[in-house]
Amino acid sequence: MEKARILQASTSEVYGDPEMHPQTESYWGRVNPIGIRSCYDEGKRAAECLMMDYSRQNHVDVKIVRIFNTYGPRMALNDGRVVSNLIVQALKGEEMTVYGDGSQTRSFCYVDDLIEGLIRMMNSPGGFTGPVNLGTPHEFTILQLAQTLLGMTGSPSRIIFKPLPQDDPIQRRPDITLAREKLDWEPRIQFSEGLEKTIAYFRQMI
Ligand code: UDP
Repeated sequence: MEKARILQASTSEVYGDPEMHPQTESYWGRVNPIGIRSCYDEGKRAAECLMMDYSRQNHVDVKIVRIFNTYGPRMALNDGRVVSNLIVQALKGEEMTVYGDGSQTRSFCYVDDLIEGLIRMMNSPGGFTGPVNLGTPHEFTILQLAQTLLGMTGSPSRIIFKPLPQDDPIQRRPDITLAREKLDWEPRIQFSEGLEKTIAYFRQMI
């Protein structure tokens, strides 16, 4: 009987506030072990470690993906992440909250692209554990995102600036060379197209 494959949905947070840019899977990361984010970051790092040990010890086919920022329809209205927050605020005509000066960057992957990557990883040859970065190699500042959404929604909202949370990474962008090589995968959906779909979803939810 074939043993089940296990997928670990790990995260770009394992890279912490990275000194290497873009981030490749071979980079070990820079995480504050005692900061307010560390329960998540270090939790995910420990999970990768346990998965690898479990795989080595029991010869179970483990697959680890490091998921970068992902967005799309069906995010919860109160999810708290930047894409959903800013869209919901814009659609309600509320102030759009940018933390810090908005110069920090993220690279946003549309949910359908991400799911295709997960499926390809699960169908990859046995023994290939990864970790593999899944995300979009196009980087935007948070202020750019807010301005783009303001334009796309035609909202009368204004952008306000709030304090930057502690240990908020300054920049984040995946190197997806490994995913291209091993999974023949890269994101297909343009950011503008993905944002249109996400805005349309939130319009009918509000
Ligand atoms: N952010 C923001 N306004 C919000 C929510 C988040 O400016 O209403 C910022 C946040 O400080 C971070 C970036 O947007 O720099 C992405 O935050 P998110 O929580 O979506 O993802 P993560 O920090 O895990 O990458």
